[in-house]
Amino acid sequence: MADNRKKEKNNGNGGAKVIPMICQSTGCKERPKRANFCNEHFIWYKEGLITTEGVRAKDFDKKYQHFLRRQKAA
Ligand SMILES: [Zn+2]
Repeated sequence: MADNRKKEKNNGNGGAKVIPMICQSTGCKERPKRANFCNEHFIWYKEGLITTEGVRAKDFDKKYQHFLRRQKAA
């Protein structure tokens, strides 16, 4: 039968948080400035576009369009 058990993430360091050397946002190579994000992606994080892990929100595209519109209006 199907095994629906979630695989536990194991990064081999006992669950201790490692401060990354680069921005948490996927594919970003900037050095983090705030909360493990570069300046740009920290704004994304504050706007709810990405999670603390740098993963895009489910409705990222919609949120991003709103975000761009607000940026233009500012
Ligand atoms: Zn970044």
